[in-house]
Amino acid sequence: MNKNMKRYFYIPMFTALLSLVLLIIFNLDNKSVNSKLYVDFLKDTSNKSVSTVYVTNSPIIKVKLNNGQIYETDNPRTDNFKEELLKQGIKVSENAPFSAKEAIPTVLFSASLVFIAVMAVKTSSIPSRRLKGVDALDVTAVSNATYNFDYVAGNEEAKESVKDIVDFLKSPEKYSAYGARMPKGIMLYGEPGTGKTLLAKAVAGEAGVPFYAISGSDFVQVYVGVGASRVRQLFKKARSNGKAVIFIDEIDAIGKKRDGTKSGGGSDEKDQTLNALLTEMSGFNEKEGIVVIAATNRLDTLDPALLRPGRFDRHIEISLPDVAAREKILALHLKNKPTKDINIHEWAQKTSYFSGAKLESLVNEAAILAAKEDSKFIQNIHIDRAYSIVLAGYDKINRDHIKDKDKRITAYHEAGHALLTLKVLPDDKLSKVTIIPTSKGAGGYTLSIPEDKLYQNKDYLYRRMMVLLAGRAAEEIIFGEDYITTGAYNDFQQTTRMVSSMVTQYGMGESLGLLNLEELSHLNFNNTEDIVNECKTTIDSLYEEVKKTIIENKDLLDRITNELLEKETLLAEDIDMLVA
Ligand code: ADP
Ligand code: ZN
Repeated sequence: MNKNMKRYFYIPMFTALLSLVLLIIFNLDNKSVNSKLYVDFLKDTSNKSVSTVYVTNSPIIKVKLNNGQIYETDNPRTDNFKEELLKQGIKVSENAPFSAKEAIPTVLFSASLVFIAVMAVKTSSIPSRRLKGVDALDVTAVSNATYNFDYVAGNEEAKESVKDIVDFLKSPEKYSAYGARMPKGIMLYGEPGTGKTLLAKAVAGEAGVPFYAISGSDFVQVYVGVGASRVRQLFKKARSNGKAVIFIDEIDAIGKKRDGTKSGGGSDEKDQTLNALLTEMSGFNEKEGIVVIAATNRLDTLDPALLRPGRFDRHIEISLPDVAAREKILALHLKNKPTKDINIHEWAQKTSYFSGAKLESLVNEAAILAAKEDSKFIQNIHIDRAYSIVLAGYDKINRDHIKDKDKRITAYHEAGHALLTLKVLPDDKLSKVTIIPTSKGAGGYTLSIPEDKLYQNKDYLYRRMMVLLAGRAAEEIIFGEDYITTGAYNDFQQTTRMVSSMVTQYGMGESLGLLNLEELSHLNFNNTEDIVNECKTTIDSLYEEVKKTIIENKDLLDRITNELLEKETLLAEDIDMLVA
């Protein structure tokens, strides 16, 4: 308990004591209220000296005479008692006579007691952590103009996806005039240190609105209700200033998927906090110009309630930077520092799988080393030594230690998908091939935009499956049958689903012909062996065809792979150049 609190404690203590004393005195005084026999009371009524009778339910009633004197007498409890009195012109009150002498100290006494109780709860039973927490929650807006998009290197797609939000924050009226519903919440997801916080700050900076940041873990308290009230405080504060960006880092701390089995008391608290957040978010309307940006490392662990429309309904992946982005990030952090003969391009290539935060710390370590030895400039040797320091500082299982071999496998695998897309689905637009891992666990991916059409014919489905099989096929051809990897797991999931649908649902197979397997289920039909055999034969022959195509075009496969190893991400125009 701090000193101030102690001082305030004396006030209610004092009033409580004082009112207690007064009560006792007045009560003693009350004892002197004389009582009269009922017959004497009747005498008084016939004398017309009674002014008011207080008829309550108690066995004793009070009587007030015209001269102001009050006495007690027995309650006759007759049915028409009140009527009789009224007939004689005597006032009847059904409440006990109001006595300020008694009422005021009573009220004072109970008020002081309540006050003491509240203060006791606030101070003693909750450890000082809460007091600190309240202070820590006292989020003040970060001055807004400090950050803008220039501070975020790379991440072009993500920046593009938040540009309209910036515009909305600048003039929410414009959007509401068109009846446009802007997202209230944006979910940024991706590896730690990829610049999610930075991007959120840049949004606030670009729009020129205050930025309120808090971490999900600040909401998680042992005491039920504290988190929820913090959420309300945060929103109240942000709204009091009009437009704002509210940033909630580590939203998983309150928004993790509920797993049914309630583990301890903590989950109730989380639910309450989460509900408070959702309520606050639905509480403000489009015109207010408030946007909540949340960040998480994994999107798939979040409670789906958070991601529904009207909540965090825009999801933006912030991925690890590829070579080009790393070069920009390094350049950005080296800017305004004295440097000499640093080959940024080369360092970008040596730092695959580094996050933005890690690149920043690489530059920082190099600067410290240069300063330590009073070197005039930060030079290549400083970065060289910083590189070992930074690598050692992070755990060994980290991705930067993915061996070059693994990188080569991923590159060939993705190149296989890309090559087959070019060869068998030339009308599908190959838009991106990358060996930068996704937060969902894939080592890389190949993205193509399918041609727009209503129906997918049998031929097209076969070709799609060939593209999917090409990752594994490339691995097998390059590294040999014994060195194939688990990387094709997801590809096979998809091809298996496709081929079985063709045979059992689309009427495109031999064993069932035009029959639908599901509709046969009530016939106790269990001759599925034929179906499985047919699926397998189909996939096997497609796989052979894929291998043939790859071998015929091994040259192009190598070229795509090498380019991938160098650039890590290839866009449509890079691929066009390779093919040409
Ligand atoms: P996250 O919120 O994703 O964990 P941060 O935004 O906190 O990552 O990033 C930490 C630091 O790393 C930033 O302050 C910045 O110095 C550096 N950084 C990360 N990504 C970038 C980027 N794209 N451009 C420039 N600096 C970056
Ligand atoms: Zn694949």
